[in-house]
Amino acid sequence: MYIRKQRLLTPGPTPLLPKALHAMMGSDIHHRTEDFRKLYKGVLADLKEVMGTSNDVLILVASGSGAMEASVTNCFSPGDKVIVCSAGKFGERWAGITKAYGLNVVLLEEPYGSAVAASKLEAALAANPDARGVFVQASETSTGAAHDVEAMGKLVKNTNAIFVVDAITGMGTMPLNIDEWGLDIVIGGSQKSLMVPPGVAFLSMSAKAWKHAESARLPRYYFDLKKEAKNAVNGESSWTPATSILLALGEALKYVKELGAANLVRNAELLARATREAATALGLTLFSGANPGSAVTAICPPAGMDSGVIVKEFRNRFGAIIANGQGTMKGQIFRIAHLGYFDFADLFAMVAALEIILAANGHPVQFGTGVAAVQNVYASAALNRELVNT
Ligand SMILES: *Cc1c(COP(=O)(O)O)cnc(C)c1O
Repeated sequence: MYIRKQRLLTPGPTPLLPKALHAMMGSDIHHRTEDFRKLYKGVLADLKEVMGTSNDVLILVASGSGAMEASVTNCFSPGDKVIVCSAGKFGERWAGITKAYGLNVVLLEEPYGSAVAASKLEAALAANPDARGVFVQASETSTGAAHDVEAMGKLVKNTNAIFVVDAITGMGTMPLNIDEWGLDIVIGGSQKSLMVPPGVAFLSMSAKAWKHAESARLPRYYFDLKKEAKNAVNGESSWTPATSILLALGEALKYVKELGAANLVRNAELLARATREAATALGLTLFSGANPGSAVTAICPPAGMDSGVIVKEFRNRFGAIIANGQGTMKGQIFRIAHLGYFDFADLFAMVAALEIILAANGHPVQFGTGVAAVQNVYASAALNRELVNT
């Protein structure tokens, strides 16, 4: 058998930054020591800088969903009315969590592939002046669509509701002006654009969110944000932290600061644009054509082809793991990720592989058509000096 390198090309977990991976070797430290406190304080400060906010930032030992749940249990009381904007599997997760905790949910739902328009939220806020919270995904990873959180945030800002943004793949792939746009809680996870393995989630909390937390009566114990904030000041976590992930995160944040947080976003935007152009050049349809985000691009396979064939072929021929659709979208789309440690060389290879797979499965392809589209985006970006390091 010939060599096939294993490549992780999914929108979470994402490819690991080698330096971050190596840093995990140093995890034989105890968490109630000065060494650890220094690490923890540094990671919190860098996270805050990279997120670009003056709000408090907290870290939790959990995958992203843990921080989603924490935002609900820490800021709301049983029966509180909230508005959930949902246009995909992760929007449905917001609906699931808020309902599980007995909140009174007003659901603004759009079909998979589209996004909830700010005007719809405006109407819902007017019709529900007693709403205490609004939940949304900045980037809906299951469909590749993005929400206009800037427009939404400005609407929520003028109400008594807090705006809770799942930016788990939005962070590092789209501009998020947390303080100016009124994004009260912004949630991220380690295994997305920050290039480290799964294991910690984090969130920023505005003064308005803390005010909600003051009166919130839902039960909580492990994810107690007030307790976490009190401990964080001293460089401590409430419970045993995910030390190895924090060591990795420390290195990754250093890398992102050197690169520039805005350039991490531009990198994803450029790769997403090139992917859309390649798909179109190959005669494929984009699943979220009207509201494309830059974390991941969802593409429909040629008519009559199950996207599972493409996913399987990537693995069997090229050792690469790409994402299928989730839930009812399984078989209908495949997803190409751009968030975090992805570059143009990755994309040249991915699109070249895709062309081979399409041709081998009965979809005629002029080899190089998609790759050329990516090359053209690269070339024009390089000419316009858009690219980092050029
Ligand atoms: C990955 C992801 C999550 C969190 O999933 P976990 O498996 O709990 O980390 C939540 N929302 C979005 C949009 C995501 O992409």
